[in-house]
Amino acid sequence: MNPKPETSYPKPRPALGATRADFPILHQQVNGKPLVYFDNGATSQKPRSVIDALVHYYERDNSNVHRGLHALSMRATDAYEGARTRIAKFINAADPAEIIFTRGTTESINLVAHSWARAHLKPGDVILTTEMEHHSNLVPWQQAAKAAGATLRYIPVLGADAEGGLNLAALDTLLTPAVKLFAFTHISNTLGTINDAALLCRRARAVGAVTVIDAAQSIGHAPIDVQALDCDFLAFSGHKMCGPTGIGVLYGRRALLDKLAPDETGGGMVVTVTYEGATWKPAPERHEAGTPNVADAIALGAACDYIDSIGRDVIAAHDHHLGQVAMEKLSAVPGIRIIGPRAGQPRGGLVGFAFADVHAHDVVTFADEDGLALRGGHHCNQPLMRKLGLTSTTRASFYFYNTEQEIDVLVGSLHRIQKFFVG
Ligand code: PMP
Repeated sequence: MNPKPETSYPKPRPALGATRADFPILHQQVNGKPLVYFDNGATSQKPRSVIDALVHYYERDNSNVHRGLHALSMRATDAYEGARTRIAKFINAADPAEIIFTRGTTESINLVAHSWARAHLKPGDVILTTEMEHHSNLVPWQQAAKAAGATLRYIPVLGADAEGGLNLAALDTLLTPAVKLFAFTHISNTLGTINDAALLCRRARAVGAVTVIDAAQSIGHAPIDVQALDCDFLAFSGHKMCGPTGIGVLYGRRALLDKLAPDETGGGMVVTVTYEGATWKPAPERHEAGTPNVADAIALGAACDYIDSIGRDVIAAHDHHLGQVAMEKLSAVPGIRIIGPRAGQPRGGLVGFAFADVHAHDVVTFADEDGLALRGGHHCNQPLMRKLGLTSTTRASFYFYNTEQEIDVLVGSLHRIQKFFVG
């Protein structure tokens, strides 16, 4: 048994339903039924304040940053750097220079895999990860290991029908001084498992391994304090936390980022360029070549404000509550197999399930007729699916604007689907 992650859940706040008024997109019908948006694990919806931040920027301040001395450029630069400071505060980074803007989690992880791994890995070294990783936190390490002649090892997932947690006993044999980098997900996008990130970072530090946390599924759902976690790198996407697509963050310890060779080179990140070569600025500029995604970075700052106005401990409690309600109600549907942590155990606000006789794509298509937005497939977790003996699952993933009544719509739809296909 894994120890329970260090999470305490305050009582869910029923008034969260009122936040729905802030999300224009939620107030629509799909196939003649009220939209039930349960695809938050793929991307979250955007509140009016985030949409307004984008519009405001393009209507008043749009300009290129850093290199201009006119009013608009200075306003744009202030807002862009202000967003960096806001995001540093959001994850309690010690220094705004530790926030590198990227396109999202995938690009953030690739930056570490290219720059850090290229400089530090040698034949015989080990990269450690887990069996529950999204392809974005798996394929870059396969490539890095291949390029360096290093070995990639996996912490096994315990019986996914029983618990879906990591086999922490395996850490004793897997986490050796040969491990130079340990990359793991905070919350599994397929199982809903919440990994004890602080414990994993502690264990990694004891053998001198650098840690990379994939926070794609946790960033807008639970309080994250990079100093308390004591991680080296943390990657996330804006679009899963009420922000726009096309913007994300790589957090890295300043001392590491300043020494890291840039993955991309070009304008904005250089000190001096001659016909023979170039020298790099310190972080964050050295890792942000070219014109950055100014508007979306500013809107991501607005997303931090919005989420903090609700409270991430409140969101985590609501996720947990809806996850437990969904587990209980879905388990009454005939023929259903629910994967991941069992009822009562900590789980992120998502539930994955499968029917023996109905493909996930059929489930999603039929549910769409009832106004439900679900996701079906391998969820970028192909090796894990194979381990589970499945080709696909259906996932309902929740956010603070979802309600228990919406789970009833899902359950009704699944009964209809089961009846149609199985009888
Ligand atoms: N890791 C996890 C756990 C995810 O859920 C996702 C998105 N599904 C990613 C990484 C990749 O995020 P993005 O596509 O925004 O780069």
